[in-house]
Amino acid sequence: MAEAGGQQLTHLDELVSLCASRGYISPSSEIYGGINGFWDYGPLGVELKNNVKARWWQRVVRERADVVGMDSAIISHPRTWDASGHTEHFSDPMVDCRACKKRFRADQLEEIGPCSAREGSSEHDLTPPRNFNLMLETRIGASEDAASIAYLRPETCQPIFTGFKRVREAARQKIPFGIAQIGKAFRNEINPRNFTFRSREFEQAEMEFFCHPDEREKWFEHWCEERMRFHRELGFGPDSLRTRAHSADELAHYCKNAVDIEFRFPFGWQEIEGIHDRGDWDLSRHSEYSGKALAVTGEDQKERFMPTVVETSVGIDRLCLALLANAYAVEELEGGESRTVLHLHASIAPIQVAVLPLSKKLAESAHALESGLRRRFNVFYDDAGNIGRRYRRQDEAGTPFCVTYDFDSPEDQQVTVRERDTMKQERIAIEGVAEYLREQLDCAG
Ligand code: ATP
Repeated sequence: MAEAGGQQLTHLDELVSLCASRGYISPSSEIYGGINGFWDYGPLGVELKNNVKARWWQRVVRERADVVGMDSAIISHPRTWDASGHTEHFSDPMVDCRACKKRFRADQLEEIGPCSAREGSSEHDLTPPRNFNLMLETRIGASEDAASIAYLRPETCQPIFTGFKRVREAARQKIPFGIAQIGKAFRNEINPRNFTFRSREFEQAEMEFFCHPDEREKWFEHWCEERMRFHRELGFGPDSLRTRAHSADELAHYCKNAVDIEFRFPFGWQEIEGIHDRGDWDLSRHSEYSGKALAVTGEDQKERFMPTVVETSVGIDRLCLALLANAYAVEELEGGESRTVLHLHASIAPIQVAVLPLSKKLAESAHALESGLRRRFNVFYDDAGNIGRRYRRQDEAGTPFCVTYDFDSPEDQQVTVRERDTMKQERIAIEGVAEYLREQLDCAG
């Protein structure tokens, strides 16, 4: 990984420009000047994101008998957000500068920089803070009255709580068990910033684990360990990841215990995932607001109790940003040259293997190799430019393996496989390439 050597990322700017030029991430509606807090994922970005989501789903849902999945609508019945407390409490304190007219979060004033509109003073002329609700509103149907207002969900977990009874019965699950979901969430952030770190539209992967109140601590520990293991397996080094327990005054009013998994971004340590002991707040409130009984009967068939919930909540976009920042390095090579490389973990790299014929004259055989590999891997074919430059392009894209088909290949039926991180080259039989890659990628999995 990037910590092995070379110069690591110190400012986001280099990564932002690489992401745009290589087709990872770029501003949404770019030809109109972009729209603040919204991002588009290009050909490499969507592969990275899909790989990360697939890995999360594999670890959290498919490998476990006690977690099932769901995919709910983005818009819920508006009462959902009254019950969850979002209508009343989901707000950040906001201030306006009367001079430059900019708007800031009152709890992030140390980061706002000087005022551009006040002569003789760089200080902003700030209004007193007031609460700003972060839910994005929309309207449903043709009427424009108050009853038509709905919200784009600010977190993916609430439909898990409202769907709890249905999913539990349909999946024939007993407590303890979990429900997981990956999907879009929307927050009208006052100050979107740090690239995709704080966006207005983003994806969350959340899992709500329902257990008996006597077992809440055990499951909280379990999920803290599981989630940390997940991140470590993606190649984060020991110095780039840490856990941070919330102090009592940081905890949400319904939350009994919370731990953040933080990554050392170029702009400081910041949360990528939260693990929360939410108690029975959500189920109790939805039970109260809907009038439906959500308590369950215990194993002994006598005790009735409201399950308590341990939640794991990771932002997919934030995780992708952390993975890219962690992977980015500029390395000195022999002869005074340097390369920019993304040391992405092979299991999530957008392209797994590039097929590079040394000459266009070798295209027919190289294409045959390419189409064979496409059945099992995500392959990129490139026959343009000198081979050194093609390797550099794949290094920047984070491709773990390049296979070069050269003028000896038709004779000896061998190709050269070049590994991204070590740049070591190995000559292997063409018929063994797929197996070789499978072994290497499995090892990385
Ligand atoms: P923060 O304090 O950074 O706003 P939060 O504590 O409000 O985050 P949660 O509500 O716990 O975040 O959301 C869980 C996860 O969703 C976060 O760890 C983060 O990865 C992701 N997330 C939350 N808000 C955003 C956002 N505006 N843009 C991108 N990802 C986000």
